[in-house]
Amino acid sequence: CNFVNGIMHLNQRYTNWMRISTAAFEKGFNSFQMLGTIMIRLFKAELPIIEKAQITFYTEAKEILKPYEFAMGIYDKRDERARTIHDDDVDMFYGCVLCQSFAPTHACCITPDRTSLCGSINWFDARAAAKVDPKGPLFEIPPGECYNKDAGEYQGINEMIKKRSLGEIDRIFLFSGMEFPHTSCGCFEAIDFYIPEVNGHGIVDRNYSDVAINGLPFSAMANQTGGGKQMPGFNGISIQYIVSPKYQQYDAITQGLSQGIETVVWMNKGVK
Ligand code: SF4
Repeated sequence: CNFVNGIMHLNQRYTNWMRISTAAFEKGFNSFQMLGTIMIRLFKAELPIIEKAQITFYTEAKEILKPYEFAMGIYDKRDERARTIHDDDVDMFYGCVLCQSFAPTHACCITPDRTSLCGSINWFDARAAAKVDPKGPLFEIPPGECYNKDAGEYQGINEMIKKRSLGEIDRIFLFSGMEFPHTSCGCFEAIDFYIPEVNGHGIVDRNYSDVAINGLPFSAMANQTGGGKQMPGFNGISIQYIVSPKYQQYDAITQGLSQGIETVVWMNKGVK
């Protein structure tokens, strides 16, 4: 719905926020049928492989439970499959610039060990999308030379971000929230944040409505983290990335630890 005037959406894997402006409603946008028709046309235009589509809107919360469980089952299978491969097993990474409509210097780097920060696109999904629509928002990134294995710094990723951020950013460490961190748009499922008092990290997800251990709510940290900036100490991440063996491994190694998860001293219950 980034393409519908007057409608805003923010999607993560488990959360879908959508707002319809009163101005759009006043101009006559008063039926889900319109939204469904637009979405079907968009999907068919973007993905010519789709010949027919049907969209159902649920307005009763309890009715969504069954399809929700079905979707969760599919996600579980996809996660299981995604965990079977790692960065060293593949010769192609992928990028996504879908969120450049509101974060112009942001581009997601999607590798087997680093799922997109919205959590919606793993390496298999990105590969399929780039193949189905080679001119679309998802594209191939040949990794090129690996400059630093612990940090996850690759020639191809640096070149890609320099081009896609129009020269604003020229270096990314895939596995660090502290040095040359991956940019964050606004769709991240969670934030990895640095807690200087204990030289450790915290993780808070977007559904946590209380203040985190650093005294800040998710919304305040999200302002600091997002917008396509590279913000050491505030890194937008997906939930799946937390269970990756390479999760923020560079930050762990610089602290004398072996795994990124060991740097984490606090996380909210929802993340656990
Ligand atoms: S968060 Fe990244 S992968 Fe997800 S839609 Fe935005 S740019 Fe694409």
